[in-house]
Amino acid sequence: MKKLVAIVLAAMLLMTGCSTKAPEATGGMKAGTYKATAAGFHGDITLEVTVDAEKITDIQILEQTETEGIGAAALPELVTKVLDNQTLGIDGISGATVTSNSFKTAMEDALTQAGADMDKMTKPVESSSATKEEVTLDADIVVVGGGAAGLTAALSSQQNGNSVILLEKTGVVGGASAMAGAGTMATGSQWQKEDGYEDSPEQLKADMLKNGHNNNDEATLDIYVNTTGAAFDWLVSEDGANVPYQRDGKPTRSYSGEGRGAGVVSSLSENFTTGGGTLMTNTPATELIVEDGVVKGVKASDETKNYTINAKAVILATGGFGANDAMVPEEYKQFVYAGHAGATGDGLKMAEAVNADTFNMEFVNTQPNSMILPSGLGQYCNPGVGGAYAASGAFLVNQDGVRFSNEKGNAWDLMQDMKKNTAQYLVMDQTSFDAFNKGMTGSKIYSEEDVEKWLANDGEGNPFMVKADTLEELAKKTNLPEGALTETAAKFNETAAKGEKDEFGRELTLTLSDEGPYYALQQYIRYYATLGGLRINDSMQVLNTEKQPVEGLYAAGEVVGGLEGDVYMGATLFGWAVTSGYNAGNAASEAIAK
Ligand SMILES: Cc1cc2nc3c(=O)[nH]c(=O)nc-3n(C[C@H](O)[C@H](O)[C@H](O)COP(=O)(O)OP(=O)(O)OC[C@H]3O[C@@H](n4cnc5c(N)ncnc54)[C@H](O)[C@@H]3O)c2cc1C
Repeated sequence: MKKLVAIVLAAMLLMTGCSTKAPEATGGMKAGTYKATAAGFHGDITLEVTVDAEKITDIQILEQTETEGIGAAALPELVTKVLDNQTLGIDGISGATVTSNSFKTAMEDALTQAGADMDKMTKPVESSSATKEEVTLDADIVVVGGGAAGLTAALSSQQNGNSVILLEKTGVVGGASAMAGAGTMATGSQWQKEDGYEDSPEQLKADMLKNGHNNNDEATLDIYVNTTGAAFDWLVSEDGANVPYQRDGKPTRSYSGEGRGAGVVSSLSENFTTGGGTLMTNTPATELIVEDGVVKGVKASDETKNYTINAKAVILATGGFGANDAMVPEEYKQFVYAGHAGATGDGLKMAEAVNADTFNMEFVNTQPNSMILPSGLGQYCNPGVGGAYAASGAFLVNQDGVRFSNEKGNAWDLMQDMKKNTAQYLVMDQTSFDAFNKGMTGSKIYSEEDVEKWLANDGEGNPFMVKADTLEELAKKTNLPEGALTETAAKFNETAAKGEKDEFGRELTLTLSDEGPYYALQQYIRYYATLGGLRINDSMQVLNTEKQPVEGLYAAGEVVGGLEGDVYMGATLFGWAVTSGYNAGNAASEAIAK
């Protein structure tokens, strides 16, 4: 019997082999221009590919809404890589994986339309040699990590007359900084004084201690509050970093960079490279070079080379560790990650290998009002929820279909209430849904077409966004107990009609419409910035477990722990990145000049 089965299987395999034989490759393409679209990180990426019989001659990106400074910056690189190698078998841009994959999908579609031999067109690029070339470089200062902290450290080091190499492990500079709004605390700055905002280091310190529930490290906090004004002055002044910031002359505590975080990092990066700095992307630092307890440089590598980079000082600015599951404390893993892919804690690991101290590692910043994008990454909905709650009676319900918190209260309290649930949905009528989407599309988080697509998915995949004619139908689609949502809406509207405060302290004035359609969008807690890290002294030197400086080693930005306690205060983490980067560049320069 066994033998018979084997014979039948062999015959089947033979038949399958015959019938599925790939058609002979034709080699040539049909000369012309072909258009294709694929879903990117936020919305669609549409491109146009021009080919002649033998090769791809041009690729134009016609439409894209990828993240500025990350996906958007990766696209031109991908175009160059494909044109240079004439294959889609290139490595994607690390740090922009979703964009890279979408680009390749659209390219595959266009080339298929052109009748290309797809085996040939997807052939992996061969590495030029099996063993990597060993290269030795020298610099006064090496900065590891190309976010706001690394770029400010590199630029200030350079402006102090040093030769500087900046290593960035992904294909584009920016890190988490490029994803941030770039609100930058400016306590003690010239602008703040001129614009008449009353502030002081003492006040900022008190506010940050309160915000961080006194889990902050006061020594690090003191560095920040006492130097942030001077750092901001340098950041915006023409003879400093000369980064464009918005200013309308009204009294304000913080200012925002033009073009958000992406605008700030691209301006810093341009100033650094045009000033003669060496920027090496796709080049992760792997370990510190240490001689007799003194840091003397770093080892790094790219696709084809291993680098030994000798330097008089090394500044670690590798960001956080939120993208490294092994380092994220267990309690946060239930939430959705919304940070940068490069935040894998490399700087912490390199420093720990030389006995550096780390602390506050249990604190990770979480935020409510988040949805999940098709890429699986968490996305803040702040630009949407504000509008939704102001437009009509939108509210949040939990898995039981009942409200559980003051949706408009402070984020910390809302989050504590969310933690008690297993799920939560933002319930909206047409007016609030339109207002929500206006805020989100206005902030270029997604497009109207995305909304149509997601609604058509009817609850399949991410984000979970559903529409129904009645509340009962909406409850069914969201798996809420029968009758619960209708009851919640009735109670909400009753209080709103009286213009009273509800049991959670939210003042209700607007009602949820009596008429459908209604919408539900699943809401989550997201995490991104990590708040623990290296311990530093006033000179931005990394301290070891005996609280002694590791000679030659400095740190800046999110890789440093303790500034914020257990939750960060708006505009202070981005503010810390630029302040600490500026300080570290100056401190390292001063030390090596001695
Ligand atoms: C979505 C989002 C919104 C935010 N919003 C705000 C806000 O509104 N206000 C605020 O104050 N803060 C905000 N933050 C936090 C703030 O932006 C960050 O804490 C800050 O920008 C971190 O700067 P950084 O330079 O230390 O790190 P990053 O900007 O993350 O840069 C670190 C860089 O180091 C690179 N790197 C890592 N390992 C290596 C290695 N081995 N070799 C070479 N390079 C390496 C990474 O790829 C990355 O590019 C937000 C963060 C996110 C993700």
